Amino acid sequence: MSEPLAPGATIGIIGGGQLGRMLSVAAAQLGYRCHVYAPEDAPCAADVAARHVHADYTDEAALRDFARDVDVLTYEFENVPAGPLRAIAGEAPLHPNVDALELAQDRLSEKDYVVGHGGRPADYRAVSSLGELEQALKEIGAPAILKTRRFGYDGKGQVRIMSADGASAAWADIGEKPSVLESFVDFEKEFSILLVRGMSGETRIWDAPENRHEDGILAHSLAPGDGVIGIQKAAASDLARGIADALDYVGVLTCEFFASAAGPVFNEMAPRVHNSGHWTIEGAVTSQFENHIRAICGLPLGDTSLTADRVEMYNLIGTAADDWPQWLKKDRAHLHLYGKGEARPGRKMGHVTQLW
Ligand code: AMP
Repeated sequence: MSEPLAPGATIGIIGGGQLGRMLSVAAAQLGYRCHVYAPEDAPCAADVAARHVHADYTDEAALRDFARDVDVLTYEFENVPAGPLRAIAGEAPLHPNVDALELAQDRLSEKDYVVGHGGRPADYRAVSSLGELEQALKEIGAPAILKTRRFGYDGKGQVRIMSADGASAAWADIGEKPSVLESFVDFEKEFSILLVRGMSGETRIWDAPENRHEDGILAHSLAPGDGVIGIQKAAASDLARGIADALDYVGVLTCEFFASAAGPVFNEMAPRVHNSGHWTIEGAVTSQFENHIRAICGLPLGDTSLTADRVEMYNLIGTAADDWPQWLKKDRAHLHLYGKGEARPGRKMGHVTQLW
């Protein structure tokens, strides 16, 4: 293990959204400076960073210059192309490593990997033509969900197939892209495992939150998840830990699950801090953001236990953020606004954490 990075060092964050913003705030608390690399004109993470490098994720020369200027690199967005990151590997350490990033970019490799480590996703088939989709639908049965292998997020890149004759419409809707067909899971609740793994291999796991989605977007997380989540979180945590160890992962890893009658069904992983962990800022002794920074800087990890009996996180999506003044009137409610401009429908503008 390399020497810990002393406070005063510079962290390079690739991606400029709210996750980068909250990572940068956590880093500043520990005395680090952050540089943000993002293609947008005014990414919200840049408001709280020492420097914004405005360039495309595929611009290898710009990425190389960015990396030379920092002591460690991380990312807050999993669709950063892996090729340029591999090409600049010698310039600065990257955590989580590029193998983990690449794995999480492809739903098919991700599911195959999870199966290889004893996990159970929904029944799935790789699909790269209408013929394959028709065959897969015969094998899996309807209802089923067709998801693009790459670049899906917040329910985008997904089409539900409700009956056996729905293949050709779904294939057109998905844009004829390489995809995965998965069976529809009859689940009781959804939850996530938020894990952080340090450079020494030490792991810590927060209480598993229950996650509720609206229109495919996370709306609400509650921690600790109770009932079936309390029962299934140990098996899900073991799987997440096994995956993190196998990848020699450093940083926060999020794995999403469906709690079904047959046990935890793996949905997907994110090689980064995650919206379902925002409650940890006030609801846990050490937040996901601080522990990610600690991990990538080689510091000891912090306590992940709850600071309240119960914690709830509400996402402020689109114009819901206009109600911000009402949250300030509530006791033990913590308002976070991301400083984004226009409140477009579906855009995550902020969140609130309520402690109980
Ligand atoms: P994803 O982007 O894969 O996380 O999907 C977004 C949301 O769609 C999930 O959080 C679930 O609420 C729902 N969903 C996705 N896949 C399935 C599935 N195989 N069965 C049932 N619901 C699903």
